[in-house]
Amino acid sequence: MLLDFLFPRVCVWCWKKWEYLCSECKKELYSHPEICPFCHQKSSDFQTCKSCAESQILKWIIIWFAYKWVAKKLILKAKFAHKKDVIWFMAKRLALLVQTNQQLKSKLENFELFISYIPSHWRRHYYEKWYNQSKLLAKSLANELWIPMLKLASKKSYTVSQLHLNRDERKKNLKWVFHVKDLSRLPNWATVLLVDDVTTTGSTLSELAKSIHDEREDMNFRWVVIARNMW
Ligand SMILES: [Zn+2]
Ligand SMILES: [Zn+2]
Repeated sequence: MLLDFLFPRVCVWCWKKWEYLCSECKKELYSHPEICPFCHQKSSDFQTCKSCAESQILKWIIIWFAYKWVAKKLILKAKFAHKKDVIWFMAKRLALLVQTNQQLKSKLENFELFISYIPSHWRRHYYEKWYNQSKLLAKSLANELWIPMLKLASKKSYTVSQLHLNRDERKKNLKWVFHVKDLSRLPNWATVLLVDDVTTTGSTLSELAKSIHDEREDMNFRWVVIARNMW
């Protein structure tokens, strides 16, 4: 493309031309060790450990990288330069993790796997200039895996002004509240991959999963992220 000549892509790490991540720097990307998403102890297949599972809806996570070095640069490039092809590149790598995961592989073959993301409130969405990175990543992953991306919920606006509330009431009011859509057409025991770019505490995702779980107890959720923030 002409644009590629005028504004050539360069490697985010070594500035070599024509690719966002050159083949040499790709070797610097290492898979994240398998851990419990909440207490971060070693746990096979990124399963939520027994003690955390008592209070958590999300039973697994998939993490591609630790949020540092090359991976961090790549994510920041996608975020601030709004680079769609960087997101596609990352989605391809995530797709590989899903396709090679024993449990998800069978779900994929049986058409029981779906993708969703955290809906953003319309006003925030507007200020972000219609750009929701997690949604774009989710969409790219869905395309890559040939499975549907669903909007399972929408976000309600804050109903009460914060001004006249005490601390506890404010906290309650600030909790994310989701409107769950009609889920009756989803097959039993469907698994939903909830996609996010970088992990935070997972509280918003947990809240979303909880809201959906209240409607459909048989559904499973797996949190999928590109990188884990080393908080
Ligand atoms: Zn490079
Ligand atoms: Zn744990």
